[in-house]
Amino acid sequence: VSNVHEGPDDQVVRVFVRKRPIFAHELEQKEFDVISCDKVNGDLYIHDARMEADMKGRYLNNHRFKFTKVFSEKDESDLVFTEVVQPLVNLVRQGGNGTVLMYGQTGSGKTYTMSHIYYRAAWSLFEAAANHVEGPAVQHAWISFVELTGDTCADSLNDNHKLQLLTCPNGDVMTFPAVQVEVSSPQELHDCIKFACSVRATAATGVHDQSSRSHAICRVEMENGNALTMVDLAGSEHRIDSAEHDAQRRKESAQINSSLMKLKECIRARAKQADYIPYRQSKLTHLLRPSFVEDADTKSRTVIIATVSPSSKDTEHSLNTIRHSCIMD
Ligand code: ADP
Ligand code: MG
Repeated sequence: VSNVHEGPDDQVVRVFVRKRPIFAHELEQKEFDVISCDKVNGDLYIHDARMEADMKGRYLNNHRFKFTKVFSEKDESDLVFTEVVQPLVNLVRQGGNGTVLMYGQTGSGKTYTMSHIYYRAAWSLFEAAANHVEGPAVQHAWISFVELTGDTCADSLNDNHKLQLLTCPNGDVMTFPAVQVEVSSPQELHDCIKFACSVRATAATGVHDQSSRSHAICRVEMENGNALTMVDLAGSEHRIDSAEHDAQRRKESAQINSSLMKLKECIRARAKQADYIPYRQSKLTHLLRPSFVEDADTKSRTVIIATVSPSSKDTEHSLNTIRHSCIMD
């Protein structure tokens, strides 16, 4: 076992994995399912086809990883929301900050999963007594939605206006001044997120899949000042590939890689409840700063949902995703 994330529900960082179903067209291409989930133990197995199978066809050397919980291709998005995100919503309503990060290869189900989380979260945040959570009925929420591509931060709710980091006189970096749209119903909140997502989708150049190369950061702040932050990260498959001809693409891949590594450093530090979180190292971690800080009155909790494709052609990427999700090792 290369990774252990067991423990009480109140861990500051928890890591989940979701496997998507294999597609008919993948099976037609003679690809096969290399991932199995042991839901009872939270184990994920990746069968490495490059390793030899024994006489009975069993793989001799499966990779085994342990998570807080694994969701198989049979599990609905509703279950993922209930088990992973609902506790964060409850925390926000009770005076804490929650962050959910979707991490994985392009095509592994980040946006698919996140779309459902947006939907359920919108209603759940507004529900007066959601799941027996104490507190007054919520009337208003403020939403911001930014997209980070390389070094460029664009406001999806303000015509993709470019945002700069603001610096205080004492040198402290403050924030990106993104527009916060006030909403007063779950429907309005969800419509607003859907609008921002459509801006992200249509910004695609047509040549490259824009959404795989950018981080989408949606923050919903409630009247109590606490926020739920939902992050659909850029695809984790981008390598600094010297064979890549397009210099701009090469630079972007390097930036994606580097921003994901720096995010990992912060999450590791946070998971260890370290005093120092190196959030100043990248724009992404700057943007997520509220997710890393915690004070006496405000708890902050982060969950990572690592999404994986079961297809044999994606084994390498799935192993990478899973290994990088091993924040505690
Ligand atoms: P990503 O955002 O990680 O690039 P997507 O969310 O766009 O990936 O998913 C890629 C494709 O797989 C989409 O067509 C999506 O509908 C489908 N898909 C992803 N996860 C699931 C799932 N759990 N069940 C069914 N289809 C899924
Ligand atoms: Mg996506």
